[in-house]
Amino acid sequence: MNVIDFGTRKITYNLHREDRKRLRIVVALDLIVDVFAPATADEDQIQATVMKKAAWIAGKLDALERYHPLPAPKKYISGETLVYLGRQYRLKVEQGQNQPAKLIGRFLWVWVEDKNDTRSVRKKVDIWYRKRAHETLGRYMARCHAIASRHGVPEPVLLIRIMRRRWGSCSPKGRITLNLNLVKAPVHCIEYVIMHELCHLKYHNHSRFFYSLLTRCQPDWRKRKAILDKTVI
Ligand SMILES: [Zn+2]
Repeated sequence: MNVIDFGTRKITYNLHREDRKRLRIVVALDLIVDVFAPATADEDQIQATVMKKAAWIAGKLDALERYHPLPAPKKYISGETLVYLGRQYRLKVEQGQNQPAKLIGRFLWVWVEDKNDTRSVRKKVDIWYRKRAHETLGRYMARCHAIASRHGVPEPVLLIRIMRRRWGSCSPKGRITLNLNLVKAPVHCIEYVIMHELCHLKYHNHSRFFYSLLTRCQPDWRKRKAILDKTVI
């Protein structure tokens, strides 16, 4: 598996060698990227060509992921591990009256009428994550923007939704979309994704101007990115 970095996302692709003159990139419906390269082309050359096409690949994946089913659900039973702000918690399913899920100590308590009704448990867990995401990501957005605004970054409109293959995105019209699952990542990483997207409000590319602005806003962003890259949600 080969990987290239494109902003806050990683694009992985399978490399195939063929008797052909030009490199061909295919993005399949199952979000698999296949690169068909001439048998004689060297790895660096291939990587550079794929890199040049990264925006196009990302666009294709984005369009496809809208039609892609969500990952297989967890079991939603007591004892199952959940992650929030980079820490692990355990799910505790109890029979009881209808009330929202609640984090108590290292446990996320969920009360349902029937403990075996995993659909109800899942619903409560999802609602809890959604609420936490809006509160937490909104708070960190405000903090990061307080810093970025000193460097001329305008105020964004924040959207939070589940994204399959990326942590965040930024539209040219000033809308930042954050992955709801980002709330599972450590706080340092959340701040990195937010700052990265905020800097795109000024530079809609990954030019040296963009990275110089990001470094001024968040001098240790590389360390944060390295941790995020190792985070699997
Ligand atoms: Zn970016």
